[in-house]
Amino acid sequence: MTISRALSSTTFPANFMLIAALNPCPCGYRGDTRRTCNCTPPQIDRYMSKISGPLVDRIDIHIEVPSVAYRDLSGGAPGTGSAVLREQVAVARAAQAARFDGGRTRHNADMTHRQTREFCRLDEECQNILKAAMTELGLSARAHDKVLRVARTIADLDASETIRPLHLNEAVNYRMLDRQLWT
Ligand SMILES: [Zn+2]
Repeated sequence: MTISRALSSTTFPANFMLIAALNPCPCGYRGDTRRTCNCTPPQIDRYMSKISGPLVDRIDIHIEVPSVAYRDLSGGAPGTGSAVLREQVAVARAAQAARFDGGRTRHNADMTHRQTREFCRLDEECQNILKAAMTELGLSARAHDKVLRVARTIADLDASETIRPLHLNEAVNYRMLDRQLWT
């Protein structure tokens, strides 16, 4: 992070996680099963074009979060508990610590392009999935590497040595805003 003042400019180390949310359309009900969205396609287009492409490109994971009905909120539906999740994260982090073994890179997200090529090797089936996604979604080179790093993490959470098609498909599905679902 660089702070510039009249007399000097100082750069401090910074490592942050950005989490952002936006409505799917101006009224917020597009895709909602209980309320009707009356926005027109041009209105939705204009709304979505407000987010900058280069910014979206730099965000690792984009997902759609549907609204939750009150009875589901209050019902305590069974899901993965915190203790189980914690265990999975610990396993994934241990795998990353072993992978980078004391180097400057500590997490999959920090991998350089060269490390991404080294640690995210794909078999032929996965290569075909990625090639199809690149063409279909028009992914940038940056998004291509992000998909691989996210797939590597999904594989780590699954305690899998290799990236399998299901890991890669999940990572591709996390590039929702590249799909331009609103068009
Ligand atoms: Zn709407």
